[in-house]
Amino acid sequence: MSAHTTTVAGVDVDTRHWIGGRRVASAETFTDISPIDQGVLGEIARGGATEAEAAVAAATEAFPAWAATSRAERARFLHAIADGVDRRREELAIVETNDNGALLRSHRRGVMPRVAHNLRFFADWLLELEHAPFDTRGHTNHVSWDPAGPCVLITPWNAPLMLATWKVAPALAAGNTVVLKPAEWSPLTASLLADIAAEAGLPPGVLNVVQGYGAEVGAPLVAHPDVRRVSFTGSVPTARTIAAAASANLTPHSLELGGKSPLLVFADADLDLAADLAVEQYDNAGQVCLAATRLLVEESVAEEFTRRFVEKASSLTQGDPRDEATSVGPNVHPRQVERIDGFVKRALAAGARAVVGGGPNTDLGGLHYRPTLLTDVAQDSEIVQEEVFGPVLTLQTFATEDEAVALANDTRFGLAATLATGDAARADRVAARLVAGTVWVNCFFVRDLRAPFGGSRQSGLGREGGTWSFDFYCDLKNTVTAPKGWNDHG
Ligand code: NAD
Repeated sequence: MSAHTTTVAGVDVDTRHWIGGRRVASAETFTDISPIDQGVLGEIARGGATEAEAAVAAATEAFPAWAATSRAERARFLHAIADGVDRRREELAIVETNDNGALLRSHRRGVMPRVAHNLRFFADWLLELEHAPFDTRGHTNHVSWDPAGPCVLITPWNAPLMLATWKVAPALAAGNTVVLKPAEWSPLTASLLADIAAEAGLPPGVLNVVQGYGAEVGAPLVAHPDVRRVSFTGSVPTARTIAAAASANLTPHSLELGGKSPLLVFADADLDLAADLAVEQYDNAGQVCLAATRLLVEESVAEEFTRRFVEKASSLTQGDPRDEATSVGPNVHPRQVERIDGFVKRALAAGARAVVGGGPNTDLGGLHYRPTLLTDVAQDSEIVQEEVFGPVLTLQTFATEDEAVALANDTRFGLAATLATGDAARADRVAARLVAGTVWVNCFFVRDLRAPFGGSRQSGLGREGGTWSFDFYCDLKNTVTAPKGWNDHG
């Protein structure tokens, strides 16, 4: 084992960057800790402008040959990487759980299969992607999706490998080369992805991984003039900085940001289902961008809904995310717990009431925060308007459908919305009026890679998923061919 390897739950992870098909160290490192016990997982190479430059140079050099491969060849590589993910599913799951604290059983059964699916789906989708030719006075229009160039992909810590491959897969399938920058709180599975890609024979420079802090290595990457696409998932303040840097070069960028999504519960809903959907919002200790953190409940059923919610919420088990019985694990980092608690303390001081939770779980200690529901909150208060990104929900009531829609739409976000109703006509009416990239009716988190995904307002810019991913990662071209012997320019 080299000095540049750390062993996490029996899995060796290289702590260096992956640039141009080889491991590259940095003079400095940063410490990666585990949310489970705050123990040190490794000293990770801490990139800066030099590593950013090297990675973009490697991606730029590799681009022409990769762009010249056929769609089928690229699909074969992506399937080979997916095979590697499937083979190493257990290792990826345990490393990810140690690194970001999300449940091991979710990583095993949901997330890592989805990681492989991301890779296979976009490979296969591109094989089928075409626009029917169309005619202009006898001339044929042919639309093509051309590779765009080196892409910089920046990801957050709450779903590291899932979000990385959601971007890496379409970018590579499209014929682009990639520089991936994982979040500093959970960098390990990106390094394993580099190993898997190398094992699959991906040519050097096609996928590069650089690690480090956003301001140090992320900033020079997104500002680099040779980069042709920037795709970012993360918070609104970071997005503003990235959008400004990318815009200076007119580099197209896609931004998938935060949310403050509502769950609307109408009196005609199945209240058990509604309470289940509400409790599901504590998934991943509330660190889910799509989470419906604002419960909006029709007055006439608010008491009964709350009773059922409290009953279900009290049966949640907090604990070690590696334990099968745990339903809510720790939050990711001491700074995140401090941030969550700050929001809750300020809300309580402003007059909110904690129906459940309301503070850290002092029995468990560590980074465990109690699943919390706050009532008596004003629509214009911080707790209703700002993303907490922790296990904290608010409950407000409404009297009419119009009021429900008005409250639901009254934030600066527009990522998702969920409604619980037994009335199909109401579902259609309300869904049409909600400002959201995704609306779920009587369900939550049903995601299909064919669907457009993204947020309205400050929840993002652009859509990815299915063909929309290729519209973003490619340069679209229309080639117009005259019929033989036709001269129509006069
Ligand atoms: P963040 O914005 O702090 O960081 C995200 C990434 O950006 C990290 O890799 C970070 O190092 C990098 N970064 C920071 N400054 C940078 C800069 N100046 N230039 C380039 N890169 C920079 O977000 P986070 O705290 O890691 O993640 C949580 C946020 O992500 C929440 O707001 C959540 O809602 C959002 N999120 C959105 C989605 C979605 O699909 N809409 C999915 C998951 C998470």
